[in-house]
Amino acid sequence: MLKPAIINGKPVRSSFLHPFKHSIGEDEINEVVDTLNSDWITTGPKTFKFEDIFSKKVNSKYAIAVNSCTAALHLAIVALGIENGDEVITTPYTFAATAEVIINVNAKPVFVDVEKDTYNIDPTKIEDKITDKTKAIVVVHYAGHACEMDKIMDIAKKYDLYVIEDAAHAIGSKYKDKTIGSIADVTCFSFYATKNITTAEGGMITTNNGDLADKMRILSLHGISKDAWKRYSSEGSWYYEILYSGYKYNMNDLQASIGIHQLKKLDQMQKRREEIVDKYNKSFNGISQITTPTAKSYTKHAWHLYPIQINEDLLTIGRNEFIEALKAENIGTSVHFIPLHIHPYYKEKYDFKSTDFPNAFSLYNNEISLPIYPKMEDKDVEDVIFAVEKIIDYYKV
Ligand SMILES: *Cc1c(COP(=O)(O)O)cnc(C)c1O
Repeated sequence: MLKPAIINGKPVRSSFLHPFKHSIGEDEINEVVDTLNSDWITTGPKTFKFEDIFSKKVNSKYAIAVNSCTAALHLAIVALGIENGDEVITTPYTFAATAEVIINVNAKPVFVDVEKDTYNIDPTKIEDKITDKTKAIVVVHYAGHACEMDKIMDIAKKYDLYVIEDAAHAIGSKYKDKTIGSIADVTCFSFYATKNITTAEGGMITTNNGDLADKMRILSLHGISKDAWKRYSSEGSWYYEILYSGYKYNMNDLQASIGIHQLKKLDQMQKRREEIVDKYNKSFNGISQITTPTAKSYTKHAWHLYPIQINEDLLTIGRNEFIEALKAENIGTSVHFIPLHIHPYYKEKYDFKSTDFPNAFSLYNNEISLPIYPKMEDKDVEDVIFAVEKIIDYYKV
């Protein structure tokens, strides 16, 4: 790959700006220490507290804390009875987890191309892909921009399908006046290290369906009728029953200790993300070589990512060289996502061509995720802007 020299001899930054950084502070550290000094470190009071404040925050009846968003998605698929031979409609423009949980129950992911402006599943293309075998639709709120949930829920109702939301990017997002986490049958959140709030590793399931909540909670801990708190604490008894063949997906109280304080800081952290977006938008909106991300009026955007599109026709370099040029200026970036259908596993298993989902393929070829996280200082944001402008100035046609 072409490795551009540092333009004009001196990089914009003297030290590398990481593409992601978490915002763990003293409150999280003190709470973890408090838990370590207590007699209970696995799923217990702190996890139940985190679940309680989380469900209030996203306006859902139930919340079940688990050890990843992948676990959350898997439990949703299993609890909804999706199995061998079923089909599940989803987007190719996502992370591995969204579709692997479908394949891992021997069901088939059926991809629908995304909208060119939001990167989200295109609701107008869903009905064409529905068959007798379709059981559910799994949507992804890319970067924190809500999908067109009214249209998606209407289709689901018409064809009697379940809807699962992969909200790994969408804590703090809204669709119209509804909080993400309160709309579909099941919503799955991620607290992975890079996400808007983190517990290092962790996830949350929300639902308004009590039976489904009970089932997912039981499945998350070996399918047994009582969690450890109900067996070993003074309130508990030793007896339990195995009701399903389950999984080991529970969150522990150390993770929840971090999560409780991350959630308290969410609104303040989201405000900082919005400030960074404003600075980027103001600087980039007039530059024809790049397209800035959309925020449709129906969404409150969580800005987990700030994805730009490179207009290759107006530059002498492509996306990959642009990323290398940013790296030479000491700016770290990333690409979200390499669409699932162009990965070797999917290509071979389902015989996909890259152009089967043209919007996903084209978005991927031109996308760069610029750094955006609450810990970025104004100077960091200015460095990113300056580096992008410097590269465009140098490589424009
Ligand atoms: C991060 C991510 C996941 C997986 O989250 P984990 O908590 O790491 O399992 C799932 N879907 C999307 C869209 C993601 O970005």
